[in-house]
Amino acid sequence: MNVLIKNIKSLVGIRDAGVDRVRGNELINLPFISNAFLLISNGTIAAFGKMDEIHLSPLNESLNETVDAHNRVVMPCYCDSHTHLVFADTREQEFIYKIQGLSYAEIASKGGGILNSAKKLNAASEEFLIETTLQRIEQIIQHGTGAVEIKSGYGLSYESELKMLRVIAKLKIISPIPIKATFLGAHAFPLEYKNNRQGYLRLLVEELLPTIANEQLADYCDVFCDEGFFTPDETDVVLQAAWKYGIKPKIHANQLAVSGGVQAGVRNKAVSVDHLENISEEEIRCLQNSNTIPTLLPSAAFFLRMQYPPARTMIEADLPVTLASDYNPGSSPSGRMSFVVSLACIHMKMTPEEALNAATINGAAAMELSDLLGSVTIGKKANLIITKPINSIANIPYHFGDDLIERVIIS
Ligand SMILES: [Zn+2]
Repeated sequence: MNVLIKNIKSLVGIRDAGVDRVRGNELINLPFISNAFLLISNGTIAAFGKMDEIHLSPLNESLNETVDAHNRVVMPCYCDSHTHLVFADTREQEFIYKIQGLSYAEIASKGGGILNSAKKLNAASEEFLIETTLQRIEQIIQHGTGAVEIKSGYGLSYESELKMLRVIAKLKIISPIPIKATFLGAHAFPLEYKNNRQGYLRLLVEELLPTIANEQLADYCDVFCDEGFFTPDETDVVLQAAWKYGIKPKIHANQLAVSGGVQAGVRNKAVSVDHLENISEEEIRCLQNSNTIPTLLPSAAFFLRMQYPPARTMIEADLPVTLASDYNPGSSPSGRMSFVVSLACIHMKMTPEEALNAATINGAAAMELSDLLGSVTIGKKANLIITKPINSIANIPYHFGDDLIERVIIS
């Protein structure tokens, strides 16, 4: 199957092979070619260049389709490296409670929060979870996402955490886009372990992790290391156990407070530390001396009316700032990455180029998929967005709430 996209107004996100992530002041460069073509062969990017060099490309094989992208931008699909896409039900009642002014604690006392999702997930069948999550995956593809990470963490029991991870494993096989699976048993302490934290840690470390490793159900292990959730010491216990099985950490840190989560992530060699609404100079210095990616989730800050992470300070500190949706039923019930990019520009003062790099190549890096996705590079998967006619890529965040997508090509 060979597809030619021709007359592209601007082909953006071009990177040499081997570029894993972009950091600091490199983020402002989103390399592009004007008046370009791109050739897809058997699902991968086979050639691209300027239209007047099209005769130099290997087009002698027969073309199955030619797409005219006159006045349109072609860019790599978003790589959404942080979601909780498997859930049994939405939580709009809590949304209404929040509007009416109820506090997090009051909502929790009415049965809301993560434990609410856990209760519903317990009762849901694997088939139902696969079907509804696949619908969400198809929806985010329409919004331009070409790879996604999905966490467990609404099970919070031996059976239900395994159920979630087995659902993700089955989705990996049938999903049109690549999926990375993350074990987030350490999302919250279930009620029955409220006064027995050690007991829950033992369940995670001694019972769940061995089974998960044995069945190869997780690419990563995550902990919600924050005020009121898991302490840095408890985080160490879980992540060190995960490393014994070769499962790399990713971590929720510093959403609610400066919690020691960044340091816990870095000392456990986490692939990424995610959230970072609360961060001091010490955490930024810690990240500078590490290979850990800071992933920012502005739609969660937006939905919860919390402060946004200080992206500019992190960019000035030469960090590879990354953006993801945090799609989940409690604090970010949307996986629309173009809106995440808009929020990054409007509230975090990232330029459109910085935000698009953060949501594509750096998102791929946060899933260790940079060799496959996240840029326009020969040999990478052809997961691409063709926009509607637009003036420039700045229109993408400018028209917040719109995708401006005409077509999403997956492979
Ligand atoms: Zn999350």
